[in-house]
Amino acid sequence: MTAPQSKPQDGQAIRLEAVSKSYGDYQVLKNIDAEVKRGEVVVICGPSGSGKSTLIRTVNRLEEINSGAIEFEGQNIHAKMRASELNRLRSRIGFVFQSFNLFPHLSVLENVSMSPIKIKGVPASVAREKALKLLDRVGLADKANAFPAQLSGGQQQRVAIARALAMEPPVMLFDEPTSALDPEMVGEVLAVMKSLAAEGMTMLCVTHEMNFARDVADRIWFIDAGEILETATPEDFFKNPRHPRAQRFLSDLRH
Ligand code: ADP
Ligand code: MG
Repeated sequence: MTAPQSKPQDGQAIRLEAVSKSYGDYQVLKNIDAEVKRGEVVVICGPSGSGKSTLIRTVNRLEEINSGAIEFEGQNIHAKMRASELNRLRSRIGFVFQSFNLFPHLSVLENVSMSPIKIKGVPASVAREKALKLLDRVGLADKANAFPAQLSGGQQQRVAIARALAMEPPVMLFDEPTSALDPEMVGEVLAVMKSLAAEGMTMLCVTHEMNFARDVADRIWFIDAGEILETATPEDFFKNPRHPRAQRFLSDLRH
């Protein structure tokens, strides 16, 4: 017997069922079935243009889908709903982009405390205190009053992570969070992500940082041309990729 759609299976955070999406005639996601368990770290990897960003953006409905279903804690993200309801759902899914997308006219502290105040109605003093703790956690307590333009890319991205965490989301999505950074700043952002993972955060990450994938991921999804061709533990994926396209992807990376 299969469980009814509205009832999440034990320990399940995100479930994609037969998800397809096209841009016009071009099918970018093909019948994707996948799930992320609570506390799991999943790394999505695959060639450029394979549909990784599109896939992750469907999970908080930044992209619509043409068919299938996506459940987040048992709720169908793509069901018909009012904008206010969608916003409430979205506020429970942290998203960190390649481009940091901080508000340039707001201080670091204001960037981090704004959503809890505006969306959750948290009192400003409480939100600011929480924001300071989060900034401390990402190593930026001393930058609370700085503006984004005064920070390095790595620092801005750490603020963006703190800003997402301020909403206390049970799940965090990352789309190539280190790809726009100078190499010397990649490590500081990955270290923050690693600590989040160690604390049990459920994470779905698109990244080309294969050392991060190897060390931190519980599972890897390999996607090519809009299909998940392989899901495996990092150990299996890196040592023993089964799909020929995964084998080629890894050998291209090594050369
Ligand atoms: P990835 O993140 O793996 O590099 P994307 O999900 O960004 O891949 O894109 C997958 C494919 O969909 C690419 O061929 C891209 O050109 C195409 N695509 C992405 N966004 C759009 C869009 N808004 N309109 C049309 N095609 C798009
Ligand atoms: Mg992408």
